[in-house]
Amino acid sequence: MIKNLVIVIVIAAAGFGLYTVMQDKAAPQPAAVSDAADTGAVVAEPTVGLIDDARIISAESEPGNWLAHGRTYEEQRFSPLEQVNKESVSRLGLAWFSDMQSNRAQESTPIVVDGMMFLTTAWSRVYALDAKTGEQIWHYDPQVPGAWARKGCCDVVNRGVAVYKGKVYVASYDGRLIALDAGTGAEIWQINTLTDRSRDYTITGAPRVANGKVFIGNGGAEFGVRGYVTAYDAETGAQVWRFFTVPGNPDEPFETPEMAMAAKTWKGGEWWKIGGGGTVWNSIVYDPEFNQLYLGVGNGTPWTRAIRSPGGGDNLFLSSIVALDADSGAYKWHYQTTPMDNWDYTAVQDMVLANMDVDGVERKVLMQAPKNGFFYVLDRSDGKLLRANKYVTATWATHVDMTTGRPVEDPAYDYSEKTKWVLPGPLGGHNWQAMAFDPTRRLAFIPAMENPLAYAMNDEWKNTGVYKHIVGGWNTGLEFGRLVQVMGEDGVPPKARGYLKAFDPLTGEEKWAVEQVHHWNGGTLATEGGLVFQGNSLGEVKAYDSDTGDVLWSFNAFTSFLAPPITYQIEGVQYVAIQAGTGGGDLFGGESNNLASMTYGNFGKLLVFKLDGKADLPQPIALDRSIPEPPASNASAQEIARGESVYHSNCAVCHGFMAKSSGVVPDLRMTGETRHGLYKEIVLGGILAGTGMASYADLIDENDVEAVQAYVISRAKEDRAAAAAAAAAQGD
Ligand code: CA
Repeated sequence: MIKNLVIVIVIAAAGFGLYTVMQDKAAPQPAAVSDAADTGAVVAEPTVGLIDDARIISAESEPGNWLAHGRTYEEQRFSPLEQVNKESVSRLGLAWFSDMQSNRAQESTPIVVDGMMFLTTAWSRVYALDAKTGEQIWHYDPQVPGAWARKGCCDVVNRGVAVYKGKVYVASYDGRLIALDAGTGAEIWQINTLTDRSRDYTITGAPRVANGKVFIGNGGAEFGVRGYVTAYDAETGAQVWRFFTVPGNPDEPFETPEMAMAAKTWKGGEWWKIGGGGTVWNSIVYDPEFNQLYLGVGNGTPWTRAIRSPGGGDNLFLSSIVALDADSGAYKWHYQTTPMDNWDYTAVQDMVLANMDVDGVERKVLMQAPKNGFFYVLDRSDGKLLRANKYVTATWATHVDMTTGRPVEDPAYDYSEKTKWVLPGPLGGHNWQAMAFDPTRRLAFIPAMENPLAYAMNDEWKNTGVYKHIVGGWNTGLEFGRLVQVMGEDGVPPKARGYLKAFDPLTGEEKWAVEQVHHWNGGTLATEGGLVFQGNSLGEVKAYDSDTGDVLWSFNAFTSFLAPPITYQIEGVQYVAIQAGTGGGDLFGGESNNLASMTYGNFGKLLVFKLDGKADLPQPIALDRSIPEPPASNASAQEIARGESVYHSNCAVCHGFMAKSSGVVPDLRMTGETRHGLYKEIVLGGILAGTGMASYADLIDENDVEAVQAYVISRAKEDRAAAAAAAAAQGD
């Protein structure tokens, strides 16, 4: 009772940030849906969402629909529609918009079939809308426990559903795969996909469906899990096969011959105790031509190879593209983009299939621009490397040796002894925000980044030779706690930059590049109309000329973007749809001051445009971003320094580097008096667990909380003083 009272007080007093977070968990409850599932109610024969393999394979014959995650099985995110083109795009206007009832990051690619649109929002909620009007047909909430938010690195996001034979498939953040009736949203079945629910597994990716099977992976490599992908029967949810991406304990029998092979590339460590990593959290692509499934595999745990595999070795299948037989899950081939990964260089980025003339030979290729900064073209019949050109500045390796297929690391950027600024940093040259590929122009349109990190080996490991797995926390093996200090150890950092780049995968030539204001922007869509669409962090959606990069159209949505746009056509009218709402793992987002999420907050929306659309998007009121007077503190400089370290080890990934938030998760410098009085109840007592801020009592104690609070207060004072000085200078 007392605890409830405290929560009520917190809600009443917490102000803007918390109110919106609470609203996120207070969306309408789908009681009827849950009841139907609980009682095993009979679900009628499906009548909508009747997508099958044949329809997706011949998707070019129905360009008005967007049938699969990347539109087709090739996942090019290129649409043949051309009503909206270079000439007409200036007439593009808002047709309708829908409030996503969430202020977290929105990352969904909608599926559009026969007039219906299916998309997800944060917390793995699913919406079915009339694609012409935006009218809601049904919605489904899988009721992800709020406290599960802590198990993920980069917010409670979801990238979309798969639709197949009258069912909609969504994977929930807490690791369940759920089949819904496409017409009603009624739950047909749900299953647990996790081998161990006590581990920090999460699912944020969209399932893929083909050949009567649903494929899904998971995330959690920063925390310590063992990656795998599972195929389930699309009709019943029964498990068909499972492929682990990293080996388990070598003293126990290996699940497959490939795990025995992979185990030989892990040397001297006890990786299986932490889990090894190698999660497939984003890209899984089905290839009907070879009946193959491609997995984009992530980084290891921890990031640093000296700790993870002290005897050396490539650590298969980390940072690899792995091809499997889609029916059996049997291994066919792999290509490892970053052997012995040392930087969080995942290869989970979107993969694009195409047919292409390469050096006079017609090839079926797979393309990927993974985090490590090289753009790969592989022959997907056998995984042979055809091209590896840098698409951004990448200092860690000089080039890829085309004979061995291996990157040649630059010893000047080796951080094993001394701190080094390295490009790309852990956000990668390109992250999950999907690129698009225009097959006519042979250009990939990449939301590219040059965002460095000061890499420094973990102090404790350097001093003692012992690395402790932080259960429930981040395991980078780097010196994250002293990030502020180590950033000064290797000179001036390269400036963080963001680009939209038109890149030729074969020549490695950059056809054009547009520099963005901020590095963390949205995915892309290319069309036969000669346009590239992208949303950015300033809250603008833009249409670029595919040939020149000139901006032909721009719309201010007052909300920062991450999600990739799609396009579809109904009754002769072409629509362009995009979800707005930023977030994710952008640790340094708070370094900017002009993100739409900072100016206006982060209210998730779905925006749909058509030629001569006249709908009005109300402009939100700009937020008061001034930092309130923090409570008095007599903490010593030493105590504040300790708080800085605890903060950057435990809090910074969500609340932002140096306590500067990008406007999504609350900015702790702006904490009011009441919440300052409840620091321990929140951080240790977990009174805000329902919003995603679960207790950290397993990782830090009361003294740590006091130190963090002292650090946050000192940061607030510092930035208040700086703002006052700037205002005074303006007045002069
Ligand atoms: Ca990672």
